Amino acid sequence: MTKFEALGLQQSLLDAVADMGFETPSEVQEKAIPILLQGEIDLVALAQTGTGKTAAFGFPLIQKIESASRTTQGLILSPTRELCLQITNEIQAYAKYEKGVNVVAIYGGASITEQSRQIKRGAQIVVATPGRMKDMIGRGLVDISKIDYCILDEADEMLNMGFYEDIKDILSNTPKEKSTWLFSATMPKEVATIAKKFMHSPQEITVGTKNSGATTVQHEYYVVGGRDRYPALKRLADAHPDIFSVVFCRTKRDTQKVAENLIEDGYNAGALHGDLSQNQRDLVMNAFRKKQIQMLVATDVAARGIDVDDITHVINYQLPDEIETYTHRSGRTGRAGKSGISMVIVTRSEMRKIQAIEKKIKQQFINKKIPTGPEICEIQLYHLANKIKDTEIAKDVEGYLPAVNDVLQGIDRDELIQKIVSVEFTRFSNYYNKTKDLNTVDSRDRDNRKREKGSMSGNGSVRYFINVGEKDGYDWMSLKDFIRDTASLGREDIFRVDVKDSFSFFNSEAAVTDQILNTFTEFKVDGRFVNVEVSKSPGGSSGKRGGRDKGRRRDKDRTGRRDRNFAKNSPKDSGKRRSKRRSDFF
Ligand code: ADP
Ligand code: MG
Repeated sequence: MTKFEALGLQQSLLDAVADMGFETPSEVQEKAIPILLQGEIDLVALAQTGTGKTAAFGFPLIQKIESASRTTQGLILSPTRELCLQITNEIQAYAKYEKGVNVVAIYGGASITEQSRQIKRGAQIVVATPGRMKDMIGRGLVDISKIDYCILDEADEMLNMGFYEDIKDILSNTPKEKSTWLFSATMPKEVATIAKKFMHSPQEITVGTKNSGATTVQHEYYVVGGRDRYPALKRLADAHPDIFSVVFCRTKRDTQKVAENLIEDGYNAGALHGDLSQNQRDLVMNAFRKKQIQMLVATDVAARGIDVDDITHVINYQLPDEIETYTHRSGRTGRAGKSGISMVIVTRSEMRKIQAIEKKIKQQFINKKIPTGPEICEIQLYHLANKIKDTEIAKDVEGYLPAVNDVLQGIDRDELIQKIVSVEFTRFSNYYNKTKDLNTVDSRDRDNRKREKGSMSGNGSVRYFINVGEKDGYDWMSLKDFIRDTASLGREDIFRVDVKDSFSFFNSEAAVTDQILNTFTEFKVDGRFVNVEVSKSPGGSSGKRGGRDKGRRRDKDRTGRRDRNFAKNSPKDSGKRRSKRRSDFF
C-alpha cells in the first residue's frame, strides 16, 4: 500500500497521482487530506511555498463534490491570474479519471463573456481572483450561493494585495453552512482575522516552522555600491552560464528597466509585472517555462506562487520592504527537494536588513564576492569548452567540410582550438578587462576576512578547477564531501565550492594543495577521469580591493554575447534574434 492510498483517496484520484509521478505525499498533504476527507470542517493550513498545497486541497475537493451535478460546489480564491491558471490546470490533471468534472478559471483581463459562458456550461469548481469574482457576482454571471467548499489559497498574499474587502464581499454571497479551507505560507494578523471572522473553530495544521525559509536554499549576499547593482547583476549572471532565475525588483518600473537593459545587453531575459497586458505576461511565462528566458525579472506580486521547477537562483536585485516577502522570493528556488541559491545584492547601509532576515529565517547568509573579470572569463571559457564538447554535429555541416578544411589548412589542432575558443571568448575578456572590482567592504566582511586569514597558513588559499559539476549530480555540499573524503582532508579544508553545470571551483589552504593535486592525478570515477587543476583566477584570496581602475564608467556597455546559444545559433544571428525577442515580449 503506498502512502497516498493510506490517505483515503478513491482509485480514480490515485491513478491521477500515479500519472503525476507523485510517490509519497508531502507533509501538508499527509496532514490535510485525511481530515478534509473525513468530515465537514474548517481548516487553516500553514505551509511554505512549494510544499504541495494545491494537491492538499485539490484532491479532497474533487472527491467530495458531486460530479453528476452541474451546480457550482467549490470556489477557490487565489491572488493572481497566473496562480488561477496554475491551480486550474493542476486540478484538471487531478480530475483526469473523474468523469464530468468541470473546472473553470475566472480572472481579470480576459473576456468576461467567454468566462461566463464556461460557467453556464456547469462548473462544479471555480478558481477565481477576488476582483473578477466580485465583478461577476455583481453582474449575476456566477452563482456561488450553493457552494459547499470555499478555499482561500495564498491567503496572506491576497490580503497583502488589498483584497480583504473583496473577499468579505464574496463570502457574504456564500451559504453559512459551507466549509472553508484556508491555505497560507504565513500567518500575519490579517489572516488570523479572516480565520476568526469567517471560519467556525477551524482546525489548524502547520508544516515545518512557521515563517521559515526552505532549508535546501543557500542564502548569499553581495555588498556593492548603490550605483553598481546592475553591473553586479550582470556579473552574477555571467558567472553562472546555466542560470535559470527569477530576479526580483521592488517596483514595476525597475522591473521593466532591468529587463530591458538585460535584453539590450544580450541576455535571455523577460519582464513580468502588472503593467503588462495579459498576452505579454503569457508570452513571458511560456518562454520562461520553456527556458527560453533564463532571467525572469519580476515584481513580487506578479511572481507570487508561480510554480516553475528547477529555478537555480533567486536574485534579489533590491531587498523587499517586508521580511516575509523575502521568504516568498527565496521559496521560488530549492523546490521539490532540489537545492537552490538565493542571492541578495545589497549596499552597505542595507546590512541591517540582512541580519533581520537571518533572524527570521533562522539561517545564516554567506557573504560572497561579486566575481572579478578574470574569474568570469575563466568560467566562461570552461563553459564554452564543455559546450563545444557536448555539441551534436549538425547534419548539414558535412557537405561544407572540404571547403572549410581548405580555409583552415595548415593550422594545427592546438592553434585551432585556441582560435575557436577565442571567437566567442575575446568579446568577454575585452569587456571584463576594462571593469573594476565591484565589491564594497562591509563590517562583517572585514571580520570574515580576519577570521579567514587567521586560519590560513600565510599566503592565503588556492583556487581549483575540477571537471565535475551539477550534471554529474553534485551540489556544493556533496562535492565538498567528495573532494574532502577522496583526498582525506579535514572538515574545514575545502571551502568556497562553486558548482557549475559541468565543472566546479573550490578553494583549499595552500598547505594541502599537493595532497589534492596528487590525489586527483589519473583519478577515475566510473571510468571517467576526474581532473583537478589550480585555477588561474584569484578566486579564493580576497583579490584587489578598492582598486578602482580607469575603466570606471558604468558597465552599461555590452558584454558582447556570448556562448549561451553557441551551439544553436551562429553568433551573427544573435542581433536579429535579440530584436525579434524584444518585439515578442514588449
Ligand atoms: P504550494 O502551493 O505549496 O506552493 P504547489 O501545490 O504549487 O505548492 O506544488 C509545488 C510542486 O510540487 C508542483 O510542481 C507539484 O506538482 C509538486 N508536488 C506536489 N505534491 C507532490 C508530491 N506528493 N510529490 C511530488 N511532487 C509534488
Ligand atoms: Mg500554492
